[in-house]
Amino acid sequence: MRTVRRVPLTTLTSGMELALCIHKIQGTLGDGPTLGISAAIHGDEPGGTHMVMEIARRYGGGNFRGRLILLPVANPLAFEAYSRNTPLDAQNMNRLFPGNAGGRVTEQLVALITAEFLNTIDVYIDIHTAAQPTVDYIYILNAEDLSRSFGSRVLYRFEAGRAGPVYDGNSTSVTRARGVPSVTVELGGGMIDQTPYIARGVAGVENIMRTLGMVDGEPLPPPAQIVVHAITMVRLKAGGFLYTEAPPLGDEIAGGAVLGRVVSPHTFDELEVIRSPVDQGIMILSHLTTGLVQPGEDGYMVGDLTGCERFGGV
Ligand SMILES: [Zn+2]
Repeated sequence: MRTVRRVPLTTLTSGMELALCIHKIQGTLGDGPTLGISAAIHGDEPGGTHMVMEIARRYGGGNFRGRLILLPVANPLAFEAYSRNTPLDAQNMNRLFPGNAGGRVTEQLVALITAEFLNTIDVYIDIHTAAQPTVDYIYILNAEDLSRSFGSRVLYRFEAGRAGPVYDGNSTSVTRARGVPSVTVELGGGMIDQTPYIARGVAGVENIMRTLGMVDGEPLPPPAQIVVHAITMVRLKAGGFLYTEAPPLGDEIAGGAVLGRVVSPHTFDELEVIRSPVDQGIMILSHLTTGLVQPGEDGYMVGDLTGCERFGGV
């Protein structure tokens, strides 16, 4: 049975209550771990929320072992505004963990998430997507078996001294400090139909639940996987219409190959040609549609195949 707990933080100036909705589903098939899943730590990533909702629909009857604790919208203020950061204080929630009950409003919200969600779980899946671009990779943090069983083709493992999306103060820094197996998923986003990404997200979580023994059946073996140790983010220098020429996500790309071009909507001149920055790369984040972009926005993420690990799959 699923219960929804409304955990209030404060009253906003508008008079509306700022609160978190935390869902608890008790499995009826026996003991097992308490798996926590969060989404929308960044407010412009509703695809993760959608995945969490579909997981609740599938397992809301308790047809599993253990417990599911779901936080579908970690930052309601940013979610309302479809904004990465909290509009009230311009803060990126995912740099502020474990939070501060006496801090700015996002720090207060983070402290509540730490106390009421992160500190109550045994295993953690942290779901992110991209916003205007589309992303497809997964972090190996402290639970390689779980990360691999999610089933993404490209994974990332931190290597000291190399480029990568590694930040202090994210939600998994709290769970990892407690020794809780933690997985960060980056899947979906963009101005395209999210249905296939939501389906993959649900299937990935379900396979992690199989790996944990929460759901019956052998886990599905992962596909052929590549673990990269370095990822470069190419940010856009010019604003205008972006035309992508990069291969699909998960495909390899040669050094210097064209990722995309930015064209001026004013003069119609080509303002920028964006090229892959690594000798042998693999596509991790890309703009899959042509649209208006701003300078400094995320353009493309390319994994570096130098020193990567390859797993055969089936
Ligand atoms: Zn995110």
